[in-house]
Amino acid sequence: MKKIPFLIVLTIMLFSGCRKERDTLTLSPSVFESVDGDGDILKSTITCNSSWMALASDHWLSPDKSIGNGDATLTITVLPNPNGQPRQGSITIVTDDMMDEIRVEQLPLGADSPQNAHYTIPVIFHVLYQNAADSRQYVDHKRLAEILANVNKYYKGNADSPDMNLSFVLADTDPNGGTMTTPGVEYIRWKESYPIDCDKFMNDDTGKYTSLLWDPNNYINVMVYNFAKTDGGITLGISHLPIIYEGNAIPGLTKYQYPHLGLDNIKFPLCASINSIYINEESANGQYNNADINVTTSHELGHYLGLYHAFSEKQCSGTDYCDDTPNYDRAAYMAQFSGNKTFAELVSRQSCDGTRFESHNIMDYDVSYADRFTPDQRKRVRAVLNYGLMIPGPKFNPKTSGKTTYGAVDIPIVTMR
Ligand SMILES: [Zn+2]
Repeated sequence: MKKIPFLIVLTIMLFSGCRKERDTLTLSPSVFESVDGDGDILKSTITCNSSWMALASDHWLSPDKSIGNGDATLTITVLPNPNGQPRQGSITIVTDDMMDEIRVEQLPLGADSPQNAHYTIPVIFHVLYQNAADSRQYVDHKRLAEILANVNKYYKGNADSPDMNLSFVLADTDPNGGTMTTPGVEYIRWKESYPIDCDKFMNDDTGKYTSLLWDPNNYINVMVYNFAKTDGGITLGISHLPIIYEGNAIPGLTKYQYPHLGLDNIKFPLCASINSIYINEESANGQYNNADINVTTSHELGHYLGLYHAFSEKQCSGTDYCDDTPNYDRAAYMAQFSGNKTFAELVSRQSCDGTRFESHNIMDYDVSYADRFTPDQRKRVRAVLNYGLMIPGPKFNPKTSGKTTYGAVDIPIVTMR
């Protein structure tokens, strides 16, 4: 136990006039060694006969209480250590005439830290059908495996597109641990009206569709069904955007106050939806097909992992939070569609700063080569993998010893087509 230097004690005694018994203060434990590099939650018991204050030495240590009176349990959140070497910090507990500290020594993040990890993300396609004889409703599981393999090529990147360092894999076990006979695919006969209105489905907050989901902490759920036609034209796919723990907020994404969310906390069917009417559409032999299902699925998973559209939704005043995706005024681009245009003319864009460029971005959905992501998009996806709630894989978020919230909570539903 560290004691306050004699002079300070003398000063306090002089000012307080020795009017009360001496404080007692014990901390147990008072030392934490070799704390995990990816963060932890520590608990120390304070035994004290007076009021006290808790003061952290560093931003990466946060006690759950800054003041208290008498005995208490102090919960200390330790953030991940990205510095490459061990670090030391402390929480100092101060009473009127005593002082002691809880010392924390933390290891650095390892090579298997979320920063560097290769994310292997199980995908479960839920095929919602009514007519099992229609191959665009009851989609062959082999077709879905092909599509996922093509999606992985886009996320793997090439000389012109960054490697996201992740693989989508067909789930080989179900939530009960059972082996899947058709990996990554389950078939569900739809009892409501069909084709399905994708907006109504995605925005349903009654909780009735969450029973379709497999725990989003362990799987990405992709719904595959015929979309009902809407006034706005054909929709190829639609996805929810991710939710982020507020301690690690990412611009443009919904924040949540606790570092964990589970299936029983949500009321809407958190997923990506793919219009299976176009399940066999692909660009082939250099022939452009704007309903290419591989691009659609990559695009929707891009939204699921936090990406916005690469164009401006608001006449050049919008942002996708990436600096290396030239913004263009989509309304102006659409307005020039008249008469016969060549493919070269249609992939050409005028950026908001006046320069011309060819669209290659998967998060663009006008006529585009749709074959690349950018380094800033990669940064954003990696941040979502590291900090996203209900996103499979290792996380930087503070560990929780269990649930932080019980029952369904109100979280805004955000979708993008
Ligand atoms: Zn989109």
